[in-house]
Amino acid sequence: MTQLTALLSVSDKTGIVDFAQALHGHGIRLLSTGGTAKLLASAGLPVTEVSEITGFPEMLDGRVKTLHPRVHGGLLARRDVPEHMAALKEHGIGTIDLLIINLYPFAQATAKADCTFEDAIENIDIGGPAMLRAAAKNWQDVGVVIDPADYPQVLAELAASKGTSLTRATKFMLAKKVFSHTAAYDGMISNYLTSLAPGAEENTAAVPAREEYPSVFNLQLHKVQGMRYGENPHQSAAFYREAQVAPGLLAGWTQIQGKELSFNNIADADAAWECVKAFEAPACVIVKHANPCGVAVGATLLEAYEKALKTDPTSAFGGIIAFNRPLDADVVEKINANKHFVEVAIAPTITPAARAAYAGKVNVRLLEVAISRTSNPLDMKRVGGGMLLQSADNVDIVGELKVVTKLKPTAQQLEDLKFAWTVARFVKSNAIVFCKDGMTFGVGAGQMSRLDSARIASIKAQAAGLSLAGTAVASDAFFPFRDGLDVVVDAGATCVIHPGGSMRDDEVIAAADERGIAMVLTGTRHFRH
Ligand code: 5GP
Repeated sequence: MTQLTALLSVSDKTGIVDFAQALHGHGIRLLSTGGTAKLLASAGLPVTEVSEITGFPEMLDGRVKTLHPRVHGGLLARRDVPEHMAALKEHGIGTIDLLIINLYPFAQATAKADCTFEDAIENIDIGGPAMLRAAAKNWQDVGVVIDPADYPQVLAELAASKGTSLTRATKFMLAKKVFSHTAAYDGMISNYLTSLAPGAEENTAAVPAREEYPSVFNLQLHKVQGMRYGENPHQSAAFYREAQVAPGLLAGWTQIQGKELSFNNIADADAAWECVKAFEAPACVIVKHANPCGVAVGATLLEAYEKALKTDPTSAFGGIIAFNRPLDADVVEKINANKHFVEVAIAPTITPAARAAYAGKVNVRLLEVAISRTSNPLDMKRVGGGMLLQSADNVDIVGELKVVTKLKPTAQQLEDLKFAWTVARFVKSNAIVFCKDGMTFGVGAGQMSRLDSARIASIKAQAAGLSLAGTAVASDAFFPFRDGLDVVVDAGATCVIHPGGSMRDDEVIAAADERGIAMVLTGTRHFRH
């Protein structure tokens, strides 16, 4: 059995001695670059310096260490092509079968406040990515490790094969990681260079602070799956997930049953999940076309469901339903008894009894998603020729609530107002939400005028047979005129919450006093387009 050769060249040397020790234990020959070789030798490991193989010293301050045919030939030769192996033999080149690399720490270097332009440039790794790409291209013959998290699996397979091989599946997995890694690395460099202030390249002082947003390359999107179609059947689509995504729907779900999720299913499920996560008490959110058409909290999940459904049973049909507590059979039985068809049901866990109760409904997609208060920090929107990137609207209220009317809200009203305000954040603008007792009574969404959203919310409540007397109303942005306020008060609202900040705030507050309602300002706006 031929002895394998591993080339180790790492900037971050954490764990490398132990790993090299284990490779050596499996009879693998060790090759290495200057700093790494020194460390391995000082640990008593037999290691050959790459410069001995190439016959060239490392030069130009380390800019050229491994850029040599004796290295790249050993990485790129196909073992199954006789001409390749003959060429290696002719030139006295040995194969390199394992490559263990981590690159110059460009991100850490440029994150330092005292990093100069020249420091940044010197932290661009050249030979490392070249070797990584060579090895990953030749993945069938070379195992290439950039992530220390993969060390245990690699060692286990080497142990199982007596130091002779890795499985094809592992080699391919490792190669895919490499191209994501080198793409992100180059993206990071590009982002750094393009974000510099004009003239920074002439500076010898530390480079001034840069924009806080990452390069889109650094978002590291990985394709999860192609989809049958997009928002409409004539559109093609795929689903991508961020490598560094915060816990949320898209971080990973387990589908218990049902057809494959569609484009619209995923978008709506995300909207429902983000909204239901915002509540501490047992909550239920029903979403249709990205807007909540029923949100409620209750002492139990069953109570929350029944209340949420009351808001707008017509729209709730065919919607997406999300719960923030384990979903049990009593709720599913109620959903079934109501003949309430949902496209997707989501909960942190779905009990065996609930699964059994849903088992007959093969068209319902059941998702389990680990619940977490944190949300994805970034929000992106495609626009013609580019993309808008912003931090996500993850806060309820930035400052303090301010009561601005003569009438102060009661404790109960304040609770209703806060509930309404939380819901309004998840409703498309212009949003007007009537609530009472932890339940939405009317939702006006996505209108071009706040007045129309107010009218629609009250019309919908009437259609659902709900009385708006004594309700609390949230508006996602200020009332530009008193007309919208008059509509909600005419409908029965007795207290209102909105950001304030209009040039006519005084007029709107005077109208609230005139109508005898309580008004609270948040100072925070929640536009959602
Ligand atoms: P060492 O500490 O072993 O001297 O250097 C390890 C680092 O050098 C690794 O991060 C590796 O990616 C990088 N490296 C290996 N070969 C080359 C090369 O030819 N040019 C440059 N610029 N970096 C290299």
